[in-house]
Amino acid sequence: MINIYGKYRPAILGGLILMLVAISDQLITKAEAENSFEPVWEEIKSQSTPAQLYAFLFQLPKGGNLHTHFAGSVPMEYLLEIARDKNRNGGQEFYTRVKINNCGEDCSGRRLDYAGTSAPIVYFQTTREVTWKSLSSCCQSEYKPLSALNEEETAAWLSSVKLDRPGEGRNEFFEVIWHRMGVLFSDPHINPELLVTNMKLFGDEGLRYLEFQLPPRGWRHSDGRSIPAEEVYEILKERLKQEDAVASGVTVRFRNVAIRYLSNAEAQIEEAFAFVDSHRDLWVGVDMAGREDDDKGHPLRFLETFRKMRKRYGGIGLSIHGGEVDEPNTHVRDTLLLGATRIGHGLNLISDPDTLLYMRNREYLIESCLVSNRVLEYFPNLDDHPFPEFLRLGIPVCLNTDDRGMWDSNMTDEYFSAVKHFNLRWDEIVKMGRDSLHYAFVDNAKKAELISAYERDVASFEMKYQNANWRELTSHIEPAISPYALRTFKISN
Ligand SMILES: [Zn+2]
Repeated sequence: MINIYGKYRPAILGGLILMLVAISDQLITKAEAENSFEPVWEEIKSQSTPAQLYAFLFQLPKGGNLHTHFAGSVPMEYLLEIARDKNRNGGQEFYTRVKINNCGEDCSGRRLDYAGTSAPIVYFQTTREVTWKSLSSCCQSEYKPLSALNEEETAAWLSSVKLDRPGEGRNEFFEVIWHRMGVLFSDPHINPELLVTNMKLFGDEGLRYLEFQLPPRGWRHSDGRSIPAEEVYEILKERLKQEDAVASGVTVRFRNVAIRYLSNAEAQIEEAFAFVDSHRDLWVGVDMAGREDDDKGHPLRFLETFRKMRKRYGGIGLSIHGGEVDEPNTHVRDTLLLGATRIGHGLNLISDPDTLLYMRNREYLIESCLVSNRVLEYFPNLDDHPFPEFLRLGIPVCLNTDDRGMWDSNMTDEYFSAVKHFNLRWDEIVKMGRDSLHYAFVDNAKKAELISAYERDVASFEMKYQNANWRELTSHIEPAISPYALRTFKISN
């Protein structure tokens, strides 16, 4: 007798399994709907004080922060603390400019610190001891050791590296601030400490993944010698293995970055790809940064370069700043053509309807940075921000802190802004967190681990609030309230 089922058994079994999976999926969806957290969230949102809402959002599991420039990622108080602490900065003293004399010469030390790039003459420009020693005595007298600043000077130094006063906007940020403290962010002792500090701070806010924009170039030893990229990789890798880094529970990856308006940007892109390709355990993608209202860095300039890179390399994530400008143009579309699957900011996508429609319900993510866009005056009033259009037209978005060090903010502030301005639903909040991991460039095995941990964290967070009084629960949380929140949301601590 011919066993007719024998031949088809695998197919029949496969069919049965699929049916069972489909039925159990339906059951889960139904259960999820019945246990929906939405009513609890609606009550919290409508009845909480700013302080209660802030505490709730501080503890919220948040997934990943995908758009965070390493040098702008840490609160400046921590930078100053580490830069002054000889136990953590490799025993160095840094010098900062507290007055400007008429010395009749260039007192910036930039020839040594930045290999001759131009820098404005500014107060609180910080330099290495070796550079300071090479200056004339007239120039030397303009500087003071960072560790010797009095209280007033310390406050002024901190203010000089933040956008914390009316009238400071884009120009102060792009043209001045970075020159003030560039040497600190090229230091092999300070950077690893900043990295782990940030892992702890963001970990406290419920983040589990950080993808920093960090080019491994330009680092220098205290004697001014430049440090090869390979060594930068080793230094960071070693620091990430240490106990405090591991205990933060935060996974870190980096993207290499080219500065788009520079004349050698094409070479930087090629170098960035080559480096990522050979250090894929830590570096997972390539980005282009630099102010986009400088037309020298327009996206299509780089089309041939990215096509050349695609002939050489596969599996390197592309997240590129696009549309962070006031005027309408096609830069987001052009950036997709470069191969980006994630767009940094994407603000003027709102004025390019064809591309906006094209991106609906597809696998492209927009990295929104609400506080950054407000402080840099792209949208001084967040009510005008296109974020809700992107979110509710079905374009994947996530929230990010960009250069939070310069705006004194944190990730909770991004969520608080989004909730207050755009009345977020619970399912929107959870989807953003999930998408911040789904679109991360970390390898698939780690990503799966991060996503299932996120789902578990969200489920237990919901359960906690379903089973207890939210007013009681939030009263026990002690969130780290950022200075931005204190200034903007009228929260008192
Ligand atoms: Zn950015």
